[in-house]
Amino acid sequence: MRKTFLTAALFFFAVCSHAGELGESLDFNGKGSYMSKALSASAGPGLIHETGQSAAPEKSYDTIVLNGILPDKGVIAQVQTAPDKWEAMHLETYDGGRFWGKYSFAEPRREKVSLRFYSSAAASTGTLKIYDVETFLSTEPAEEEAAAAQPRSALSAAPPAIPGITLVTRAQWNANAPTSAYSPQTPNMITVHHTAAHFAMTKEEGLREIKFLQDFHQKTKGWADIAYHFIIDGAGNVYQGRPVNVMGAHVKGRNTDNAGISLMGNFMETGPTDAQLAALKKTIQGVAKVYNVKTSKFYAHREIGSSDCPGNILYAKFQNMRKELQRGPDSELASLFSSPRNRTLESLDTLQSIQSGTAIW
Ligand SMILES: [Zn+2]
Repeated sequence: MRKTFLTAALFFFAVCSHAGELGESLDFNGKGSYMSKALSASAGPGLIHETGQSAAPEKSYDTIVLNGILPDKGVIAQVQTAPDKWEAMHLETYDGGRFWGKYSFAEPRREKVSLRFYSSAAASTGTLKIYDVETFLSTEPAEEEAAAAQPRSALSAAPPAIPGITLVTRAQWNANAPTSAYSPQTPNMITVHHTAAHFAMTKEEGLREIKFLQDFHQKTKGWADIAYHFIIDGAGNVYQGRPVNVMGAHVKGRNTDNAGISLMGNFMETGPTDAQLAALKKTIQGVAKVYNVKTSKFYAHREIGSSDCPGNILYAKFQNMRKELQRGPDSELASLFSSPRNRTLESLDTLQSIQSGTAIW
């Protein structure tokens, strides 16, 4: 019941704090974690942004991680650790100002979170963006509880080719090796996500972002590899994440035999591109074809986990599509976009453009 309520509440109000892929995304001022602030030339050096207090986290945490874009390399971030005490957060920066930050407390806590950003640059004229701020307990299993119960054998078989799509392979995006052994899986369900991170619009940007995401997942969360099996940029390029025949780390408690597809971007803020949606359709179809996934086993993250992922704007399309699916018998998901009754996502594009004038999102 609680999950049903949460799903409805998050869709309509989107103000609750909620889980990230495995952690809890914090809410600031009823708007989630996302913020973007263009700085004027007079902004630096000195304080360039203060988040104010987050809503109270639902669960105790000892680790805070965030990711975004810094306006210059001289930025430092601080986290409030006591009423009059601020501590420096560890920041890692990448090309284009892309960064992640992490702070670890000695003991678990439930306090609200406040962050400050300072610039040391003489003139900091860029834009500070925060895509997501998450809290979690470092003592929780690094990945999936179920993983421990499964044989953690080395991956013996290469992943199958996915018909209809040309993947940007791990070799092509220069992936790091996984940091621990994978658990094999045979997907019987598909879950769609957004990355709640940078909305890369070109392959050049996408290659940087996929590399960032893997580093972020491995180094801040301690996961073996990037969370998802497929990641799609705004230009419609599909990047190979984890091999689809090994377990991902994309829905807490539901990772077993679950293929995770994630669209780059934060769809609480904006909508996916047409190229991205077209690539999503092909990826869903291709995976469903290889593994005979049923229409009833196709989910948005928020439907099976406490999360606002994949964002209200993308989820609106899914809600309508699933309604349509539920009218028919449980059939092969692979035929979703080709059978006459289920030509839903195409008609949803039309529906979306009609409804977008009604300020639902
Ligand atoms: Zn998700």
